[in-house]
Amino acid sequence: MLGLMQDAPLLLSGMLEHGARYHGDQLVVSAGLDHGIERLDFRTLAQRCRQLASALLAEGCRPGEVLGSLSWNHHRHLEVFHAVPGAGMVLHTANPRVFPEQIAYALNLSRARWLFVDPDCLELAERLAPDLEHVETWILLARPEDMPATTTLPDPLCYEDLLASGKADWAWPSFDERTASTLCFTSGTTGPPKGALYSHRGSVLQAMAVAGAGVQAYGADDVLLVPAPLFHCNGWSTPYTCPMTGARLVFPGRELEPARLLRLIVEEGVTFAMAVPTVWLSILEILREEGGDLGRLGRIVTGGTAPPEAMMAELERDYGVRSIHAWGMTETTAMATYSHIPPGTPPADRIAIRARQGIPMQGSEVRIVDDEGHPLPRDGAAIGHLQIKGHWMVRDYFRRDDVRLTDDEGWMETGDVATIDSAGAMRITDRSKDLVKSGGEWISSIDLENAAAGHPDVLEAAVIAVPHPKWQERPLLLIVPRPDRAPTAEELRDFLATKVAKWWLPDEIVFVDELPHTATGKVLKTALRERYAKP
Ligand code: ADP
Repeated sequence: MLGLMQDAPLLLSGMLEHGARYHGDQLVVSAGLDHGIERLDFRTLAQRCRQLASALLAEGCRPGEVLGSLSWNHHRHLEVFHAVPGAGMVLHTANPRVFPEQIAYALNLSRARWLFVDPDCLELAERLAPDLEHVETWILLARPEDMPATTTLPDPLCYEDLLASGKADWAWPSFDERTASTLCFTSGTTGPPKGALYSHRGSVLQAMAVAGAGVQAYGADDVLLVPAPLFHCNGWSTPYTCPMTGARLVFPGRELEPARLLRLIVEEGVTFAMAVPTVWLSILEILREEGGDLGRLGRIVTGGTAPPEAMMAELERDYGVRSIHAWGMTETTAMATYSHIPPGTPPADRIAIRARQGIPMQGSEVRIVDDEGHPLPRDGAAIGHLQIKGHWMVRDYFRRDDVRLTDDEGWMETGDVATIDSAGAMRITDRSKDLVKSGGEWISSIDLENAAAGHPDVLEAAVIAVPHPKWQERPLLLIVPRPDRAPTAEELRDFLATKVAKWWLPDEIVFVDELPHTATGKVLKTALRERYAKP
């Protein structure tokens, strides 16, 4: 027997219109634009999205087709982000930070005919143009007065002119909630980037789970700073959760320079911020050097890579900022698990629990399996390949029939290696390709990095496996010291000996001025292996 409930497709346009109607005065703040900060309220945002959507359809865009964007975070990109899927098209958010060949590969695969270009990415777009096989129409995300005097792009349209030709009272169409909404590619550190094609249903459920399940639980009093780019993992779902909850959205723009972010946090009264650990590490470094505080900031979400415990402890102890540690990947739309502190946990144990990637949000499930695919116990000790399934996990890669991502039961390979304890909390020990296998036993590069990052003279740490004649592999530790500090290898080894097993201690420690990072703020271990791990 079916329930007698009303039924309507879960569409992203509903989230936008909710924000316009019930939180209409709330703002999207776009900093980092050449002409200064722009502030736009949710009512106007939704109206502009309707105008854009109707203008695109009038210009000949067809529901179901893919349109591309090459842009940093600001309200114009956010409008495209809502208008294109809202009208039944798909937005492919290309990542301007990856190699041009990878951008061209992805845009050719998605066959985007239209490309929205940030004025700041104009040069990149001009360079890419000859290699883009399908793009016919270029739209510069600019005001008429900011259009370039000359460009090699063929007759680019001015975004604001296009938008002005649309209808403010246009009504969003209804369609199947499984319709594709956005397309996002992995950074492609191993092989060509792979596309994750999200759907309205998956994105709505993910946003509801994040904002409603108490994981982040922000509301209309909150001001969210989002350095996490819209082009990666749906901007950690903030384009949807903010209109849904009425929280203010602050986009810092392209430059994620820590001093600027710190200023924005204080000046805009940011209460909640989302960024990868490197951003927080460098902000803490400034605060330590120059003093000051984090204003109204009370909570952060951090993830993308494992945050050092020392960083979370310092944020909480010295600045009263609580860290919510999240795990996710391009293939899981945005975050899928979060650190959960069970009630009654003694304060002294909380940071260690926060360092775990935590429990899945309702709507997703995780497990670990051995090399043959047999499930392993949830005892906090067994280490296995992490698999996930749920409403917002990708089933297959976009136009890649040659790669199998999920098994017949819907379990998706994550490429991560983890433990799960009896309370269900997951702890990522490594990406499978980053594991160090020494004498047949695994050494967790994440645990070793975390331990090293706890040393007071260490700014950043990375561990890679290097070949070893007797032990197959041994860990090599790379250290970026804090400014004006010069720890020795011996001091570090003594420090680590109090934190990890003796056989984990790196034989070699290399001091470097900086570490290479991926487009999404992770240490680029492929580059480190290339340089330091050649047999
Ligand atoms: P990229 O495009 O850089 O590969 P993804 O976001 O898809 O970006 O990367 C996902 C991977 O990042 C995960 O499989 C995992 O290895 C790592 N990761 C993400 N969040 C965390 C976290 N909180 N702790 C440890 N690793 C993480």
